[in-house]
Amino acid sequence: MKRVLISCLAYACLGFAFASAEAQMCTDIRGKVCSLTGFKPNPDVPGTTAGWSPDCDMPDQLPDAQKRAIQDAIQEAFTRAPARVRRELCDVSRIFVITDQRFAAWGRWENPDFVFPGNQGQIAISADNISHSFSELQDLRIGTLIDPGLFRHSETVKPPPSTNPIAANTLGLLYVIAHELGHIKWHRDWNDHKPVVCRDDPNFYTWVDIKPSTDPINRRWTGFGDERDADQHLDPVRKPSKVRSTADLEKIYHDGGFTTALGAANPEEDFVEAYAVGAIERACQMAGAQCTFKITIGADTFQINSERLSSHIVSKRKCLEKHLD
Ligand SMILES: [Zn+2]
Repeated sequence: MKRVLISCLAYACLGFAFASAEAQMCTDIRGKVCSLTGFKPNPDVPGTTAGWSPDCDMPDQLPDAQKRAIQDAIQEAFTRAPARVRRELCDVSRIFVITDQRFAAWGRWENPDFVFPGNQGQIAISADNISHSFSELQDLRIGTLIDPGLFRHSETVKPPPSTNPIAANTLGLLYVIAHELGHIKWHRDWNDHKPVVCRDDPNFYTWVDIKPSTDPINRRWTGFGDERDADQHLDPVRKPSKVRSTADLEKIYHDGGFTTALGAANPEEDFVEAYAVGAIERACQMAGAQCTFKITIGADTFQINSERLSSHIVSKRKCLEKHLD
């Protein structure tokens, strides 16, 4: 009985915290940005610091001019983000700039079971993420999982006449930030028992047996591109490490039900990639721009931000609308 009372109180407090965050949406997140060196968030590696809450380097390791440029780039991505993504970013305690790894990024929600007092979210990105388009980042990221000779990304961003155009690199940075925010949401919202990661939609997941008691939900850390035997696709689509041909890769993008090939690695990345692509697509719409993000595989080109003959993609896009604005 006592346990029930405590959890109800905790839930009520969380509810209040969210209500007040929504009422007081922040307008400037530059103050959250600082450098971070030496933090190892993965609890499964030697020398992990996952049990601690990271904080800014003292002194900050970024030269002043570079720090200001990064802060401004992140602020621009924030300003262009859909409303709910901005609210979520207001609740993030820090946006770290990782100084000791290239093209690194992570999103971390501190589960109170492991970190005291916990329940904080942090995003960390390395500085090189701020100066690339979505397509360049996809080439880089998916190229670490799958033979980069099999595919090529491209995009068109058509701005409306005579307005403030959204830059391709802003969309790339927003993609990176929204992706890491998606990891925070996944861990936090499943833990809070909120029906907000689309588990109320049976078609959202192209995976077998996704429910709170199963491993994909309870694992503490999901590394980039992690593939585990516990994660099984509903349909005969290969995971990234098993892709050997353009036909294997086309299956993922044609009607496989995944937003990107990274999403085919595990259920968490599946949610996160759908959320991040949804965020940049919505940012384009808000800017009055027409954005088309594409992957060319062999002789065929697929539009990443489209339904692609897949009822799963239709469901994912529909579910994610309520997380964007
Ligand atoms: Zn990820």
